[in-house]
Amino acid sequence: MDSNIKLKAEKLIKITNGNICNHCLGRKFSDSIEASNNEERGQIIRSELNIENFDLSENSYQPCEICENLLIKINTSQSKEYILKKVEDKINFLELEYDTFLIGSKIPKSIIENDEKFNELIQAEEPENIKKDINRSIGEYLEKHLQKEVNFKDSDVVMLIDLRNFTANNSKNKDYTKDIKTSVAKNQKNNDSQENSYVEKVKVRIQINPLFIEGRYLKNVRNIPQTKWPCRKCKGKGCEACNFTGKMYQESVEELISNIVLKETKSRISKFHGAGREDIDVRMLGSGRPFVLEIKEPKKRNLDLDKIGKKVNDYSKGKTEYHDLKFVEKIRKAEIKVSSPDTFKTYRALVECEENVSKEELAILQSLNIINQRTPQRVSHRRSDKIRKKEVKELSTKLLNPKSFEMIVKTEGGLYIKELISGDDGRTKPSVSDLLKTKSICKQLDVIEVASEK
Ligand SMILES: [Zn+2]
Ligand SMILES: [Zn+2]
Repeated sequence: MDSNIKLKAEKLIKITNGNICNHCLGRKFSDSIEASNNEERGQIIRSELNIENFDLSENSYQPCEICENLLIKINTSQSKEYILKKVEDKINFLELEYDTFLIGSKIPKSIIENDEKFNELIQAEEPENIKKDINRSIGEYLEKHLQKEVNFKDSDVVMLIDLRNFTANNSKNKDYTKDIKTSVAKNQKNNDSQENSYVEKVKVRIQINPLFIEGRYLKNVRNIPQTKWPCRKCKGKGCEACNFTGKMYQESVEELISNIVLKETKSRISKFHGAGREDIDVRMLGSGRPFVLEIKEPKKRNLDLDKIGKKVNDYSKGKTEYHDLKFVEKIRKAEIKVSSPDTFKTYRALVECEENVSKEELAILQSLNIINQRTPQRVSHRRSDKIRKKEVKELSTKLLNPKSFEMIVKTEGGLYIKELISGDDGRTKPSVSDLLKTKSICKQLDVIEVASEK
């Protein structure tokens, strides 16, 4: 063993008056001594330094100065069996489906502070955090007995083990002599019952992580909002104006899929994240718009998405369609939102003009390229007022009659098409109205393609 490590270990034993458990002793050198766990590391150090083992039974009135014997107690088969049973009971009660889990734990703050204090005193090099030790030890045990896998990045559930009432003395003050005295007094009274009941002070809670399903949606009819829209009057509580539904519109792209998926996953709450959105009166055609549906606290997650896709498309009766459903990781929820400005969108607009226009006059619209668009009046209440520069990539027109034409336009994401046509009282420049020198409005609009160029 490295002489530097030896010196530090000797110091640690000295400043704790020898009251240090093997878990804590080994933990301080977790990065420098090769062993399968911290307890083994502690034993190696003791035999190297020729120091007797820290005996719990004889020293019970003087617990480990660092963890107050938390690590010894949590590593007994009694504790682990108890935690396993608690976890199993909760899972059975919830009828929970999961494949991966993660352990989280809560321990008294005083122990964490104390642990850090000793790290400083001996200048430990990358010692293992006490919680990490506990989480790993419980995680390994549950992994074996539940036949499920620990996953640090994207687990289905988190098992929260609360050990704040678990330690022997559970005292927040640092006066250890006082602790020892009370502990001795207690031990003399009823040693046995105290030893048996500490395990039951562990609390276990299961946190179910959300499920994320990505796909693309089509909206084949107008006047369906993308997401659930609460009634303006009652804010969702239900009133006469909304016929006690709490909603402005009875259906949405969100609800036409989530109503089914919530049932299948035995969940109650979902959130719909779209890669941008179209106005309520705009159809979404072509290959559709990407979205992520987030299902909170799903009890079932082993779903057949092909089957569910069919069910959902039956249910929405062609008003909306959902394609390419797949499970994704949480990060897609954020990615899909930020990707919106990087996507190019192709629209088909039906334009109506106040005065007659000719096919030749429409040719001038080819000059539309960089558009300076100040936040449109109709969205200024929810978006900051500024001028955005957006590019028109391609444009074609087809005259339908002297006062109306169809325009197909491919633009950078975030350009408002209705205002590109009307000019929005001079806030969008240049505009179709400007170039044609006649007031023009967008009568109908469809998104016919949403495509990422990156
Ligand atoms: Zn300890
Ligand atoms: Zn209402």
